[in-house]
Amino acid sequence: MKKLRWVFILFLALLLFIPSYVKTIQQGKLLSGVTVVLDSGHGGKDLGASDGGVDEAPLNLAITKKLEAKLKTLGCQVILTRKDENDLASITAVNRKKEDMNKRISIINDEKNDLFISIHMNKYQSEDVKGFHVFYKDDASKMLASYIQEKGNVVLEQDKTITKGNFFILNESRIQGVLIECGFLSNPDDRKKLTSESYQNKIVDCIADSLVDYFESKGMS
Ligand SMILES: [Zn+2]
Repeated sequence: MKKLRWVFILFLALLLFIPSYVKTIQQGKLLSGVTVVLDSGHGGKDLGASDGGVDEAPLNLAITKKLEAKLKTLGCQVILTRKDENDLASITAVNRKKEDMNKRISIINDEKNDLFISIHMNKYQSEDVKGFHVFYKDDASKMLASYIQEKGNVVLEQDKTITKGNFFILNESRIQGVLIECGFLSNPDDRKKLTSESYQNKIVDCIADSLVDYFESKGMS
């Protein structure tokens, strides 16, 4: 009888465990079959925007790496342009910036990629301007941009609208994509938040959740 009781307890434990296990597996597959390129802006000698002792390039990389890890847990295939603090130009490059940008474009333009996200930080002459702002490449990228901006507005408690961007990476790429200015280094409040792990994680979760909603809306996940 004692043995039977243990079998029963084991059976009950399995019943409790299986639904959460299945849910975990399903969640892990939300972005399976999707390939996203993450482009961490600047790198090498080009530190991007700088203000209050904070440089843009390392922050872009920190957020990109966190986003890469998060998207991978969702089953997404992730391709990085810049993988470390260096830019993509070769040692012998005559024009580093040009070679770096061209290499990024050729990575992005691979036809197996679904979309790309370029990560940047903003700066403005007035320190009052702040916030998370999504720029889109073209009409085909507008919906993706709206998903990310709207989620960002809720999670980061602000109210911004998407803008058509005029950036080399958006102009020269052939697949849909967005450039995200995660915040303003010239605004003391944004600058403090952007260097904190918790705020970086908020941004990462916001982008990842938006991608899940976006692909779900397109019936791809
Ligand atoms: Zn930048």
